Amino acid sequence: MDKEKSIGELTNVVARFVSLVGKKLPDDVWAKLNELRVLETEPLPKTVYDTMFKNQELALELNRPSCQDTGVLQFLVKCGDSFPLLGRMEKILTDAVIQSTKEAPLRHNSVETFDEYNTGKNVGKGTPTLFWEIVPDNDVLELDVYMAGGGCTLPGKAMVLMPGEDYEGVVHFVLDVMTSYGLNACPPLLVGVGVATSVETAALLSKKALFRPLGSHNPNERAAKLEKLLEDGINKIGLGPQGFSGKMSVMGVLVENTARHPSTIGVAVNTGCWSHRHGHILFKSDLSYTVMSHKGVVL
Ligand code: SF4
Repeated sequence: MDKEKSIGELTNVVARFVSLVGKKLPDDVWAKLNELRVLETEPLPKTVYDTMFKNQELALELNRPSCQDTGVLQFLVKCGDSFPLLGRMEKILTDAVIQSTKEAPLRHNSVETFDEYNTGKNVGKGTPTLFWEIVPDNDVLELDVYMAGGGCTLPGKAMVLMPGEDYEGVVHFVLDVMTSYGLNACPPLLVGVGVATSVETAALLSKKALFRPLGSHNPNERAAKLEKLLEDGINKIGLGPQGFSGKMSVMGVLVENTARHPSTIGVAVNTGCWSHRHGHILFKSDLSYTVMSHKGVVL
């Protein structure tokens, strides 16, 4: 296939994938919501879950986005250094978002900052957001798509702790954010926590944590223990679905970390809402693809 044709084909497939992500929750989120529904005993949280499930059914039946806020499009682009379209990815993803905005359709969510006008295409200066990872000696493209809605983005926060605050400071920070703002993000929440040196390193990790499969654990035993302790702690707040109270507040807590400066701990939180529109897709160099997040789906 010639290069221009390949670009067109990849753009079309990514556009269809973005549209799908807006309408159908990934398998792991769907399974977790069903699991949480069973744990609730009071009529109100049960009814809220039932309404969420009905909403999902109708989104598919009516071919419409499952939440009115289809967010700002964000992509984690893990691209092999010999994937043939590596150098064209930014344009391909931007064009795919424009295409999906018309076809899905998606809400117009890209407002040029300071100039205060909506581009009407979901693209603008720096949007869609691309987080890059180049993989050496590899020709595969791995894409994570995420719709960052206003409500689920709202609790996001990052700071550098004072020396001596230690990991207790991390727990305090996360619980403080959750008790102050968690309610705004349409629980049950997915809580991404980044632990690194500076605010931007921690913040990026906290977003990447949201792309991890639900139920996965940090490979470091102590970090995995922190995930569990935070999950138990946030569940005790009793937010319940949509914040109407209930036994469970979160779908999961995912901690990502790097090595850090010996005297500082940077910590950040990013949240995903119950309608966590995330998708994961793999492309081989011949552009054949496998949708990993939504089993059995052909685009
Ligand atoms: S927080 Fe999520 S479910 Fe709630 S309005 Fe925003 S995108 Fe929709």
